[in-house]
Amino acid sequence: MADYIRIRDLEVYANHGVFEEENRLGQKFLFSFELEVDMKRAGITDDLSDSVHYGEICRKVYDFTRAHTYHLLEKLAESVSRMLLMEFPEIRSLKTEIKKPWAPVGLPLNTVSVEITRNRHLVYLSIGSNIGDKRAYLDQAVTELDEHPMIFVKKVSDYFVTKPYGGVEQDDFLNGCVELETVLEPEELLHALHEIEGHAGRTREIHWGPRTLDLDILFYDDRIMDTENLTIPHKEIPLRDFVLTPLAEIAPDFVHPVLKKTIIQLRDKCRRKSEVW
Ligand code: AMP
Repeated sequence: MADYIRIRDLEVYANHGVFEEENRLGQKFLFSFELEVDMKRAGITDDLSDSVHYGEICRKVYDFTRAHTYHLLEKLAESVSRMLLMEFPEIRSLKTEIKKPWAPVGLPLNTVSVEITRNRHLVYLSIGSNIGDKRAYLDQAVTELDEHPMIFVKKVSDYFVTKPYGGVEQDDFLNGCVELETVLEPEELLHALHEIEGHAGRTREIHWGPRTLDLDILFYDDRIMDTENLTIPHKEIPLRDFVLTPLAEIAPDFVHPVLKKTIIQLRDKCRRKSEVW
């Protein structure tokens, strides 16, 4: 059972649309929201700080909608939803509907609208470095992740010293794991990770070679995907004690969506195997 706050038909005059006149003259937009918020505590304490201030939400939506100009309602709905999910961590999920009663269609209609439902995604990353001041590279990566407007860092594991992997002669690694929440889609998150790697001077010459900073997506909710750029869950998880050990610290009971085993179970199995070999 879930609790909801609903806002219906908040009116904002703004300049979104594909046509130049829409951008110039503006028109009316009507926003409706269904916010999933746990209200049990506020129901007992009678304290606004235990819930979400719907007046503030309306004000943020109003200011945001007037400060930007987009072609599509789809883009406006996505951007407003992301902004609310990042500004109000109490919102668990959010349904956003935007109606455009004066859509220039040239035919009589009541409204045109789009409706989307969004939430933040739970992501685990592995972070590693084996050149220079490794701890500083990892700390800097965590700071940059947390400063990203679409990412909240929730937990950071201890860092572990590990022997290099993949047969290339190089210095020991320092490895850790990070739990974060984000509204970014996997490809967008990968792009953000590549930018952060770039700031650390990371170049991609030797596969499994030395690197100032390596950021990998281990899990993205329980999503399973395999594209040219991204395999999620990361393929090597069950083979890498240097991933499973820090991950077990921050997500011991997370269940691998393909292998259906917890992180603790995978870590113990991985250790038993390496003892045999
Ligand atoms: P790496 O050398 O570990 O930084 O990986 C290089 C490439 O692996 C990246 O540019 C990605 O396109 C690809 N890749 C595939 N799956 C993942 C994943 N789960 N996380 C990060 N990179 C991935």
